[in-house]
Amino acid sequence: MSRKTSKSHELQKRAERIIPGGVDSPVRAFRSVGGEPPFIVRGEGSRLWDADGNEYIDYVLSWGPLILGHAVPEVTEAVMEAARNGTSFGASTPCEVDLAEAVLDAYPFAEKVRFVNSGTEATMSAIRLARGYTNRKYIIKFEGCYHGHSDALLVKAGSGVATLGIPGSAGVPEEFVQFTLALPYNSLNVVEEAFRRYKDQIACVIVEPVVGNMGCVPPAKGFLDGLRYLSSRENALLIFDEVMTGFRVAYGGATELYGVRPDLVTLGKVIGGGLPVGAYAGPAEFMDMVAPVGPVYQAGTLSGNPLAMAAGKAMLCYLRDNHEIYGRMDRLAGTLVEMVAKTARDADLPLSYNRVGSMFTWFFQRGPVTDWDSAAKSDTKAFGKFHRAMLEAGVYLPPSQFEAAFFSAVHTEEDVQQTVAAARQSFAAVIA
Ligand SMILES: *Cc1c(COP(=O)(O)O)cnc(C)c1O
Repeated sequence: MSRKTSKSHELQKRAERIIPGGVDSPVRAFRSVGGEPPFIVRGEGSRLWDADGNEYIDYVLSWGPLILGHAVPEVTEAVMEAARNGTSFGASTPCEVDLAEAVLDAYPFAEKVRFVNSGTEATMSAIRLARGYTNRKYIIKFEGCYHGHSDALLVKAGSGVATLGIPGSAGVPEEFVQFTLALPYNSLNVVEEAFRRYKDQIACVIVEPVVGNMGCVPPAKGFLDGLRYLSSRENALLIFDEVMTGFRVAYGGATELYGVRPDLVTLGKVIGGGLPVGAYAGPAEFMDMVAPVGPVYQAGTLSGNPLAMAAGKAMLCYLRDNHEIYGRMDRLAGTLVEMVAKTARDADLPLSYNRVGSMFTWFFQRGPVTDWDSAAKSDTKAFGKFHRAMLEAGVYLPPSQFEAAFFSAVHTEEDVQQTVAAARQSFAAVIA
């Protein structure tokens, strides 16, 4: 154990005195894996440096946005140039229109898009829109899917909620979630049953088309098609929450990858280039329900912020012109994930994995992991040991069994080799 931690430790103590848990988002506190979180001072490419000067290969990538790695010159330049002209106007800017066009270029089914400040706002607003359009109250979500921290969506919500092992959240009155139906992921018959039971009362089905928030869980063959079919038949809207998968699993997200067309898509993470942005988009028929054109209200002081729009535009332009990165990430991430799994097999350690392109999770169990109940069978203690050992060995993984890890376009063969070597050592620590 040679890693220096004194500066991070001191910062954590200072932070804990004045910020709950010392963090502004719960999973960052490392509670489920043990140990203290390093305070990060710099990132470049696939690497991170903490306050004590330790270097890590980063597979968190700000929880998904940084598909091109840290401090991408094109994005940094765009943000600096925008900042020199003022950080916010609360008025429309040219770059906002550019980013809207860039988003719609990747999601051709959508005709209009509205920018907000986070994924939470995007899903909350899309659901309001679906309810406004259908004039219905109920929504279907899936266990282990996370759609941000708004009241009605914190039901069996995966992500940090799952990590903490709590069913929902205190402070959310029962009445606020009474219209939220949480069903098991990848089971179409329960969706059909819910539609039967709540005939003409279900406004929408919201789903992570590839789940990242109970660890990475891909849709079973036919699941997304089935949701499309049932939603259409029952006149409910199908919302793909692509906050994580948009521009990540393919340029056009899971919508492109699986060839299933939702009614609305929610976006965030990658489209902000590392700045706070969310968006929801769809055909004009739906989007024109939003104020000031229609009666569904939604607003934001900093929505369409010029710095965020500039970062997003630089990011999406790069992705549009460099589609080959998706194939490369798929290949290299595949090598990494399989080599680490092989190392676990060699060590006689039960480990399974799921991966879709550059999103992946090693589950500490035999698998297969197809929904929340199967994900929850993972040995989270073993994962915690693995996580701590990997951190010591210079690999920064998501500090929870139930959060997907990410690969970027700038991770190298050398990063992969180094990570596999670190995993070999770390599995030994898990078994010991
Ligand atoms: C991250 C995430 C959100 C929430 O986005 P925030 O920007 O953290 O509010 C919503 N849905 C999915 C699928 C996510 O991965």
